[in-house]
Amino acid sequence: MSVTPDFRIDLRHRFADELPELALPWQAAEAPAPRLLAIDEALAVDLGLDPRWLRSEDGLRFLTGLAVPEAARPVAQAYAGHQFGGYSPRLGDGRALLLGELCAPEGGMVDLHLKGSGRTPFARGGDGFAAVGPMLREHVVSVAMHALGIPTTRSLAVVGTGRTVRRETPLPGAVLARVASSHLRVGTVQLARATGDADLLRRVADHAIDRHHPAARDAEAPYLALFEAVRDVQAALVAQWMAVGFVHGVMNTDNMTLSGETIDYGPCAFMEAFDPATVFSSIDEGGRYAYGNQPIVAEWNLARLAEAMLPLLAEDQEAGIEIATEALGGFRERYGAAFASRLRAKLGLPADVSDEVAAPLVDDLFPLLQSGHVDWTSFFRGLSSAARGDAEPVRGLVLDLPALDAWLDRWRGLDPDPDAMDRTNPVYVPRNHLVEEALDAATAGDLGPVERLVEVLRAPYDERPGLERYAAPAPPDFGSYTTFCGT
Ligand code: AMP
Ligand code: MG
Repeated sequence: MSVTPDFRIDLRHRFADELPELALPWQAAEAPAPRLLAIDEALAVDLGLDPRWLRSEDGLRFLTGLAVPEAARPVAQAYAGHQFGGYSPRLGDGRALLLGELCAPEGGMVDLHLKGSGRTPFARGGDGFAAVGPMLREHVVSVAMHALGIPTTRSLAVVGTGRTVRRETPLPGAVLARVASSHLRVGTVQLARATGDADLLRRVADHAIDRHHPAARDAEAPYLALFEAVRDVQAALVAQWMAVGFVHGVMNTDNMTLSGETIDYGPCAFMEAFDPATVFSSIDEGGRYAYGNQPIVAEWNLARLAEAMLPLLAEDQEAGIEIATEALGGFRERYGAAFASRLRAKLGLPADVSDEVAAPLVDDLFPLLQSGHVDWTSFFRGLSSAARGDAEPVRGLVLDLPALDAWLDRWRGLDPDPDAMDRTNPVYVPRNHLVEEALDAATAGDLGPVERLVEVLRAPYDERPGLERYAAPAPPDFGSYTTFCGT
């Protein structure tokens, strides 16, 4: 069935046309009683979609994939990937659909994608559906990430389907309409390579260059330039995650984009007490995707990307390996520089403070935070008060006060800029207890807490009276927090 709103939805099928081997035409499952649970109206407007229409019955049919413009050709995308280090040759959208690429009025092309839209041939044992909680969680966290200035896929809307999905308990079902600069993943390239079809591999790389890294086209070695561009956007991305204490939780190669956007908010969570070993995901028993491992995992994933791209890097395998190894070697330096620069900003250090002075200052801070189980977000936000002369907010967080005071003296001697710090260190992040509380309420039918949380998270740097509870760490009785993939 097609929709014909009184404005044009310019939905193309470029991925399906250029990479048909990776695109399986498919249709969304029926939604018995669709109900809008969340919408990002500003995003809708940016995309040229009328929010009032999206809220209508036809709009909800569009957002659940049941009615799409005549020209659209929805597909399930195929990809492979390393999951927790083990290779799965055939993953793909088991419960998702690419409706197509939406051309926004201002220009720019983005994927419009659904999650929870029913089983596809890639579903393996899964039911193809998603529950309200995990889809609203993706909505909330991606709103927060975007507002924090971190590259991310966006959530256009979450629609309750009226279907009950069976997990440990019966839960209300939902479909998330997601917008991304694309859904090309490391795993997409891995699958293209594994088919042995050199032309397909080249087309995937060309598609990625075209959509995300067009400068690579004019490089002397375009595919090496593509690899380096992905390396650089991922180094920058993970540095941003680390700076806000974000733990992705499931950094499988199928969940790492070529665009450099954060994707797939499954078991993700924000670290409160600083500890590199922080893990939230129930399935990450070995701590592979712990907070402090994220840069190393990103590098590992990029090594898998380089392997998959070898035939594009040189005709001779040995030569390809040499080129790839050298390019991969640049990750650490770039990540290190990106993270150091984020930390300098968090500490408000003026430009004339040399790295030789800044680096040991940062190094000496971490043990203080770790041994005192100090809340990452509150500490950095509290530091701007210390720069303004009131150290009590941070003194209240740290156990070893003599060590902290000595550190603060050193730091204040560098003349930190508190206003710049307040633009870098958020007051509000999606704290786990707040997210859980809001999702529980939504699952029980009350959307108020999710709506209020989203409003707070849309302006994370802007401290507002009356919102103190959104800035506070979890109460002690919240206990140790575990997230589930929700699949
Ligand atoms: P994720 O961990 O969300 O990135 O998912 C990993 C893979 O499992 C992807 O291929 C998903 O499409 C698939 N998957 C996850 N949940 C389900 C589900 N409920 N039904 C079918 N496939 C699923
Ligand atoms: Mg995924």
